[in-house]
Amino acid sequence: MTDQPAFRFFPAAYDMGDVLERSDAPCDVCGKPSVWLYAGTVYAEGEQPEVCARCIHGGQLAAHFGGQDFQLHDADLSGASEALTAEVMQRTPGFATFNAFDWPVIDGQPLVFVGNGDADAVWNDPELRAAITAAWKEEYEEDLDEPSSYALVFRTLDGKQTRIVFDSD
Ligand SMILES: [Zn+2]
Repeated sequence: MTDQPAFRFFPAAYDMGDVLERSDAPCDVCGKPSVWLYAGTVYAEGEQPEVCARCIHGGQLAAHFGGQDFQLHDADLSGASEALTAEVMQRTPGFATFNAFDWPVIDGQPLVFVGNGDADAVWNDPELRAAITAAWKEEYEEDLDEPSSYALVFRTLDGKQTRIVFDSD
């Protein structure tokens, strides 16, 4: 099992710095050195487990909670199957937002979180930048002339559709 599993609904999880960090601290779930330790929030009652990327990805964290409800995002996700909802909410690391938000779903498929609008990989992508500036104009009725972290950029798994969620402070 790889120490750095890929998260299909959050492929940039390792690039954002504050989501997963390098650490040899033992994971509370598997007991092994974490390698990639989750730095975000586990929304659950009781103690916050220190958990590695392997145990998030493989579902061991979910098993650790048994039937207890928990999630890794300050978000609601509706309109997708139970399996896909669990994959996003419990088996995909969370990222910091100012507000709770609705995770976008199209035709039963949760979208992929690409990154914040000020990430180089996002802002330098012409299609994504066009989607952000268009959505910004609609939301705030003014032009966006510099990268903004307020835009949470999502894309369908096939890359064909983009959705922007605004998360302002
Ligand atoms: Zn672990």
